[in-house]
Amino acid sequence: MPKSLRILLVSPEVEPFAKTGGLADVSSSLAKKLKTMEHDVRVFLPKYKIIKDRKHSVREVKRLSELPIQLGNHTYTIAIRSAQLLPERVPVFLLENKELFDREGLYVDPLTKKDYEDNAERFLLFCYGVFTAMEVLHWIPDIVLCSDWQAALIPYLLKRQYAKQENYAKIKTVVAIHNLAFQGIFPMEKASLLKASKTDTKAGGMLEFWGKLNFLKAGILSADKIITVSPTYAKEIQTPTLGFGLEGVLKQRKKDIYGILNGIDTNIWNPEKDEFIPAHYNIQDLTGKQRCKLMLQVELNLQNNVEIPMFGMIGRLTEQKGIDLIIDAIPSILEQGAQVVILGVGDDKYHQQLQQLYEKYQGKMHLAIRFDDELAHKIEAASDFFLMPSRFEPCGLNQMYSLRYGTIPIVHSIGGLADTVQDWSEKTQTGNGIVFKPFNQENFNLALKRAFAIYSNPYAFSKIRYNAMSTDFSWSISAKKYEEIFLELVGDE
Ligand code: ADP
Repeated sequence: MPKSLRILLVSPEVEPFAKTGGLADVSSSLAKKLKTMEHDVRVFLPKYKIIKDRKHSVREVKRLSELPIQLGNHTYTIAIRSAQLLPERVPVFLLENKELFDREGLYVDPLTKKDYEDNAERFLLFCYGVFTAMEVLHWIPDIVLCSDWQAALIPYLLKRQYAKQENYAKIKTVVAIHNLAFQGIFPMEKASLLKASKTDTKAGGMLEFWGKLNFLKAGILSADKIITVSPTYAKEIQTPTLGFGLEGVLKQRKKDIYGILNGIDTNIWNPEKDEFIPAHYNIQDLTGKQRCKLMLQVELNLQNNVEIPMFGMIGRLTEQKGIDLIIDAIPSILEQGAQVVILGVGDDKYHQQLQQLYEKYQGKMHLAIRFDDELAHKIEAASDFFLMPSRFEPCGLNQMYSLRYGTIPIVHSIGGLADTVQDWSEKTQTGNGIVFKPFNQENFNLALKRAFAIYSNPYAFSKIRYNAMSTDFSWSISAKKYEEIFLELVGDE
């Protein structure tokens, strides 16, 4: 049996505490899986306003309040609260500071729709808080897995400030990149908050990026290893097209970069026992899926008829997700007699365009501009096809949820979508979805045409559905790969 490790997962989002996207699902399910593999796993995230003491069973830890942390000339006081990830009982620590974290949004102010102006202070405090927590909890991890820019300064702070202290010296750090489009870029003046040296802030320095401060760059350059969320994305981020200006930095670390596919939580996303859906089903018996469709048609005031093909979409309504292609295609999908259900929040311009379509096509289309976990499960269960024509996609979870729910994903061949969805072939009867490339409207429209053709051929449709539902995306394989990297880093010490 492999050595048991102390693993700290630091993430700005963890389901069920705080979520804006897939990172929350992944942080939570990976932590649980590593715990079941006999590691001593703990999780650290900020205590945002949406995390409620009662609902999330958050406890006070008496001796862990009033802890000072200095950022520049200002001293903040933090408290560390505790909770658990259930049912595995993974200890979760929440960094509390009312001034910086007790707000309506996680990163964006819902009123102005802009990033909070003090996001640098907020997440720097979070990173320093991790070191404070280790000290006061007397728990020094072997590995710290730092997700995205919000946690990316931890390897940098370790290297520059903490590694000199004996108790921190052996900690190994891994940066996990869930989306390189978000890097934590701030005005260089903010560097004074962490008392950075000239060497690191001058042009070409660890923290510097076109005259600004870049948290993720510092993390990439100081971590022991870098993991990103799919093998294809690991290659794509080293190219100018998808490197978002960090391709050169990533190339420098080429031999330390790993692409490991995210897994899904098969307890939460499981059509056989999903608590949100009106009927259960499995690969042998799909009658429950028909019922889910009918019930959703009733709930959303769509024409009640299980024969009608239903196209679902859940996700951020942003350019990344190719929502513009979907908007353009909706009239044609609906005019061919299908239904479209969209759940998401994103850019105002897309909200407006979708709203206009929704008003025009009543009874055929449903639009829900909100975050709604329950509806997300119902859409996955009820739909026949899932629209995910992302321009780029580090891993993507919804296509994996769709496959498990027998809902055929229609995807652009990119990043994690290319690694998880194989194009259907009529000839060989293989493939679990419909894949198009390159990214353009014409190819997406052709993919939709193929979807209608497959739907009208019951034999083909049942075979592609069978292929989809038999694909395994549990964490078993991926968590082992994380473990291998961690064990290699720790060595025999
Ligand atoms: P990303 O992390 O880029 O947003 P993913 O496909 O990896 O995209 O993960 C998105 C996650 O967030 C999925 O679990 C999806 O179901 C969920 N999600 C996104 N938008 C919504 C919404 N409006 N309501 C409910 N769940 C949502």
